[in-house]
Amino acid sequence: MIVLKLGGSVITDKERPMTADRIAIRRLAEEVALSGVRELIIVHGGGSFGHPLAERFKIAEGFKEEPQLLGFSKTHRAMMELNRLIVNALLGQGIPALSLPPSSFIITHDGRIKALNLEVLRSSLERGFVPVLYGDAVLDAVRGFTILSGDQLSARLALELGASRLIFGVDVDGVYTSNPKLDLEARLLEVLRLEEMEDVARVGGATSTDVTGGMLGKIREALPVVEAGIPVVILNAGRPHNIFKALRGERVIGTVLCR
Ligand code: ADP
Repeated sequence: MIVLKLGGSVITDKERPMTADRIAIRRLAEEVALSGVRELIIVHGGGSFGHPLAERFKIAEGFKEEPQLLGFSKTHRAMMELNRLIVNALLGQGIPALSLPPSSFIITHDGRIKALNLEVLRSSLERGFVPVLYGDAVLDAVRGFTILSGDQLSARLALELGASRLIFGVDVDGVYTSNPKLDLEARLLEVLRLEEMEDVARVGGATSTDVTGGMLGKIREALPVVEAGIPVVILNAGRPHNIFKALRGERVIGTVLCR
């Protein structure tokens, strides 16, 4: 079973609120279909759907005042709208995609998933469905509510369900020595070993490998997955054929995180 996380930066236009990249979504659905991989969980990010609302209403910080309730609901609704587009694209390719809203079966504890009821997920996989989940606004036992990132969710599912691989599809070619969007000298790292991951996760932007923002979050979430011996691949899902090849286990330009 493979867990595929599709980054919000790939499936939406991050500059324009509530704007999906329909061409990318369709292409990715085609690549998934063509790969022939059916033991698969897809998790997608929020991009310009979830993030602006979550930020405006400070959902990640937790419940502080009544008006946030509407913000929570609207954030969740925005994610459902994006999810509908992904599921539609997959169905259009004949993939039995099944939407499973994380907020309906996960409650976090201070931002982290504790206990996780996997019955529905396991059964839907066994029955031959492709579950499609996403980063979501969820209830939180400590904060009242918060944002559960697609990165945390996909890593946790890969770990709990013993995936053979976790693939992060993003808008850059992998992990670089520094943020490639800001530094023209940044070099792509083809392999990142566990010890290097631990260094990066600890100090973030302060080592020779300067990783920040969303990429730092991914490496932190990937740590326990790699520790468990499950390889994690970070690659550019914006480049045609990459997801197709990665799902088939073929080599793709990117970063492999492994022990
Ligand atoms: P997504 O929304 O697709 O999940 P994020 O935007 O959260 O992706 O994270 C990927 C981003 O992390 C890249 O677009 C890049 O700007 C940033 N980043 C920061 N440091 C690095 C690094 N060292 N190597 C690669 N990307 C980095």
